[in-house]
Amino acid sequence: MRGARSEEMELFQTFLTTMSAPEAQRGTDIYLWRNRAGEYKRTFSSKSTWEQLRDHSPAVNWFKTVWFKEFVPRCSFITWLAVQNRLPTKDRLRNWGLNVPAACVLCISGTETHDHLFFDCEFSRDIWRDLASRIWQNPPLDLSSVITWILQPRPSPHASASVIIKLLFQAAVYLIWKERNSRIFKNISSTSGAIRVSVDRLIRDRLLSLPSTDGSPSLLEFYFGCIKLFP
Ligand SMILES: [Zn+2]
Repeated sequence: MRGARSEEMELFQTFLTTMSAPEAQRGTDIYLWRNRAGEYKRTFSSKSTWEQLRDHSPAVNWFKTVWFKEFVPRCSFITWLAVQNRLPTKDRLRNWGLNVPAACVLCISGTETHDHLFFDCEFSRDIWRDLASRIWQNPPLDLSSVITWILQPRPSPHASASVIIKLLFQAAVYLIWKERNSRIFKNISSTSGAIRVSVDRLIRDRLLSLPSTDGSPSLLEFYFGCIKLFP
């Protein structure tokens, strides 16, 4: 037997020696897939294969604020990166050796970091505080406190309010990041008022696309009730 390149290949080769060689009279070859219980079946499931192959890590406390049924994929993706400090903010770019100015392009006075953008920065803080306080009072101004605040149990109609605040959160993070990119790469700026209007439009579009349920007030109706004060 040829020498195996790894321990797994050696095990595989040893295992093959325990099997008899294919013979035409024993029928044609078939694919069999080993499931979690170690049984060989003819059906293949990409989900269970992925579950068996991937590394399992403990669930993080923030996942329900980023991934939920009504999420907007592009907003969840940017928020997913933001909560893990993985957006290419200027402090990270400079740490990687890139010669970029450190200043935040939204307020000009601060240094661009995740903590600054979400939501220490005067510009983004005003947007987040104005939107979030229409659902629940006194929103916190840093990502980890925002997540705890969103997930905290609340009285009815908690379920609808919880969906709306999560959508507001991810839309605010997404559109603030988009504004930052627009100022850097296109030299185009919007006001914080225009960004609030964009958040509102994005959420209305998302809620309009949801099917209505069994006679109970829809999320869109609930949202309209919350945002009567929107300009
Ligand atoms: Zn700033």
